[in-house]
Amino acid sequence: MPNAHTLYIVVPCYNEEEVLPITAKKLKEKIVSLVTAGTISHSSRIMFVDDGSKDRTWEIIESLHNESTFFTGIKLSRNRGHQNALLGGLMTAKDRADIVISMDADLQDDIDAVDKFIDKYNEGCEIVYGVRSSRKTDTGFKRNTAQLYYKVLEKMGVEVTYNHADYRLMSRRAIEALSGYTEVNLFLRGLVHLVGFKSATVEYERHHRAAGESKYPLKKMLALAFEGITSFSIKPIRFITVLGLGIFFISILMLIYFLITFFLGKTVQGWATIVISIWAIGGLELLSVGVIGEYIGKIYLETKHRPRFIIEKDLENN
Ligand code: UDP
Ligand code: MG
Repeated sequence: MPNAHTLYIVVPCYNEEEVLPITAKKLKEKIVSLVTAGTISHSSRIMFVDDGSKDRTWEIIESLHNESTFFTGIKLSRNRGHQNALLGGLMTAKDRADIVISMDADLQDDIDAVDKFIDKYNEGCEIVYGVRSSRKTDTGFKRNTAQLYYKVLEKMGVEVTYNHADYRLMSRRAIEALSGYTEVNLFLRGLVHLVGFKSATVEYERHHRAAGESKYPLKKMLALAFEGITSFSIKPIRFITVLGLGIFFISILMLIYFLITFFLGKTVQGWATIVISIWAIGGLELLSVGVIGEYIGKIYLETKHRPRFIIEKDLENN
């Protein structure tokens, strides 16, 4: 085929020495079969993004690169987290590829879905979202909290694709558009939606991690979840305003009630009521200030325009 597209598969890796050799082998098989079939060009690559790993991840990436030209990699100057590492990979790959697919290093995303992604691209889609058809392999806890989270996002007016994580195809054009979003508080799956263009979804089975342990402990998961809401919705602040109004209204009603009982000559005994209301209002106030503080904190971070990732090494450009 004369004009086969160049595909880059971008894989963020943080301390993935255990799974990397297995993943690399599978991905290479995939790329080779696609190149042989003429679906993608010979200059297609698997690009590993080392997110400041503390183990042998980078050494493994370097030796893969020496062993086969299909492997390439960049190394971030320090650990910046999955979203930033992925962005670093996408921004680097967009200048070298026509299509970029992002996936995790642990083979949880079914790599055979790649063929369907490319089919959709050939049908004219600029973005293809990988959607988990079932979450059988996740723990009940992860499945339920994730499901609840998508509901909350929806209520907050944040558009994301249900059960889509960061396994997706993007055309160079879509990534070019994504680069126009310069925010440092990253929630890529929300941003990609804002980009628009013709898109499609492809279902796939989510597997168990092929080796190693999850690099997303509960704390990081909650941080990402929170980012998703506060970066895309100001409804929490609006909710506070409504809550404040509601409480003010209730206090007026209470005042009227107390005035009436006073004039009827009934003595007020309500010590408990007073204490409870002080605590309730105090708590709500602190919560409200906290939520507003979160947004101000974000504004603070955004105004600095700090770089979102710094590339220390680039195997294709040194
Ligand atoms: N990851 C990363 N930087 C981090 C944490 C994770 O690049 O600080 C990568 C990790 O190597 C993997 C992907 O993000 O390729 C998803 O992480 P993981 O599979 O551990 O998350 P889970 O599937 O358990 O949610
Ligand atoms: Mg995983």
